[in-house]
Amino acid sequence: MNHRPHRLVVPTPYPVGPVNLYLIPGDEPVLIDAGPGTDEAWVALGEGLAAYNVRISELRHLIITHAHLDHYGQAGRIVAESGARVYTHPYNAPLLTDFPREWERIMRFYGDVMRKAGVPAQLLGRMGQNMQRNQQLSTQPVPIARFVNDGDRLDLCGSPWEVLHTPGHALGAICLYQSQNQELVTADHLLPKVNSNPVVEPPPEGESERPRALVDYLRSLQRIAKLEVRTAFPGHGDPISNPRVLIERRVRYRQRRTKQIQALLTDRGQTVYQLAQQVFGPEIVQDQSFLTVSEVIGQLDILEMKGLASMSEENDTWMYRAGPELRENHE
Ligand SMILES: [Zn+2]
Ligand SMILES: [Zn+2]
Repeated sequence: MNHRPHRLVVPTPYPVGPVNLYLIPGDEPVLIDAGPGTDEAWVALGEGLAAYNVRISELRHLIITHAHLDHYGQAGRIVAESGARVYTHPYNAPLLTDFPREWERIMRFYGDVMRKAGVPAQLLGRMGQNMQRNQQLSTQPVPIARFVNDGDRLDLCGSPWEVLHTPGHALGAICLYQSQNQELVTADHLLPKVNSNPVVEPPPEGESERPRALVDYLRSLQRIAKLEVRTAFPGHGDPISNPRVLIERRVRYRQRRTKQIQALLTDRGQTVYQLAQQVFGPEIVQDQSFLTVSEVIGQLDILEMKGLASMSEENDTWMYRAGPELRENHE
């Protein structure tokens, strides 16, 4: 018997608005994502489950799609109440099991990246304060029962689901695919109303190379575009039917922006921050420095990979110029 995912909408204290959790009911009820660690989310989860005659204490399996607080903040509390077994990608483990330590490592990395991107010192201070606020919502440690990797199969209430590792929006992001019903849980990898943000992330512990989040993201998008999907279940907003059209739109949006940034590159070196100001306008960059700078870094990664941009580090700052391929075309 096939059990389809039932959407539970839970409020979050974040600008993104409510988050979707998915219940697969059955003998051993499965919950996909936990919601944020707030009392409001706890109450909403209880009420959402009650509509399907399930209690929080009866959950047996909990899958975490990625290590963002709106999706996993409540996981520890759910496990304490139910003893549910937690499944997630290994890259999500540091935040889930030791939030304070990993958060500090991420903050150090962000500080470093933003400084090299040319973000003014005064703005850096404000960004730090904003991010510190998230820490107040830090969570109790989440015990992980099993790591899942790309290609793994999970039997969820009698129906086989495949795990796809889809890095980009988060390094440890996974999608879940049920080929018979052509259903895909995308979480934040594909959202109906907004473009997913593939933000910069530090390399996994023990590795030195910074992941190319936007490059990874577009590759992961192409990957799910190849699947036969009737319904996609996103982390925020309504289910998406025939997601291929939306995926194409998301890819085109990024391609337009790549062209836009490519056109700004010259032989004169510019910082990421300077480029971001030209793309988004100074006010938006000041308001949302992390997201805008992150987006431009992602785009520059793409251009660098194609030989259309080149970067040199000067006085601890990344300077970008038109790359060899682009200069050749100009001649
Ligand atoms: Zn997310
Ligand atoms: Zn989210």
